[in-house]
Amino acid sequence: MSVEAKALQTVSDQIVVAGRPMPQFHHIGVEPLTGACGCEITGVDLRQPLKPEVLDEIMTAFEHFLVIMLRDQNLSIEQHKAFSHYFGELMELPQAPLYAGDREMQEVRREAHEPVSVVPFTKFHTDSPFLERPPKCMVMRAIDAPRYGGDTAFANMYIAYEDLSDGMKKVLDNLRVVYSGRDIWSKNAKLDEGRRLRLRESHDFREDQLENAHPAVRRHPRTGRKALFVTPTYFKRFDGWSEADSRPLLEYLAHMPHKLQYQCRIRWKPNTLIVWDNRFLQHCGIHDYENERRHLIRTTVIGERPLG
Ligand code: MN
Repeated sequence: MSVEAKALQTVSDQIVVAGRPMPQFHHIGVEPLTGACGCEITGVDLRQPLKPEVLDEIMTAFEHFLVIMLRDQNLSIEQHKAFSHYFGELMELPQAPLYAGDREMQEVRREAHEPVSVVPFTKFHTDSPFLERPPKCMVMRAIDAPRYGGDTAFANMYIAYEDLSDGMKKVLDNLRVVYSGRDIWSKNAKLDEGRRLRLRESHDFREDQLENAHPAVRRHPRTGRKALFVTPTYFKRFDGWSEADSRPLLEYLAHMPHKLQYQCRIRWKPNTLIVWDNRFLQHCGIHDYENERRHLIRTTVIGERPLG
């Protein structure tokens, strides 16, 4: 075979998914959900302690696909937390309602009779970017899922960044975003009762912990790969810009995660468990489930201070 033919064959044999060559897996089953992000993992029972080689491959899949999904994981709260600890230290969030009063567990719950708007948020976002160290990832399991609808959509913000022009990248590489969670309670109180979010009622965070500036483009601490870290939720302004100046650029960037070629969707079933990277993905719950109960519980793992 000629050198050219061999090179061509190597290229076509290589599976590129989520913007990079797909790693090989020998101890777990891994099936990509789309070409952009997300995979389903099979052959693992999270109720059991994990062998090091299995855990290694789960972490490789998480780093590559950014959201990993496992079906039929009927875990106790202790087992859920034990698996979460492999990803890091658990954290509390000031605004997210607790599950069963447990400070290390949160819930996303919508009863069948409630307006879907009790669940934040309907637009693509990253969770709690206003904290100094926003979450690295969430480990989420469905207790109750709608028969149809209520998927969660994810968008790969590495690819969104990589697709931008060099000129735009240069602007964003030097930009910081001020995120604030200070006024979510007062804003919520002003809404009509039927439209209010379900928020945590009290917390121990100080006011100054609820506002921080982070790079608009953040890097993965190990690989250095860059991703867009701009989202309208909790956005105040670009650092050094007025709110009015910030709005048009924010609006443009807010469209990025809506591109279908960056996305995957998770269809929830009871005992579906996912881990998603809150740093390099944006996510959004899809409100298309009238008269259905949806109950998801989760832990939140603390992340690094975003690196510019
Ligand atoms: Mn969210």
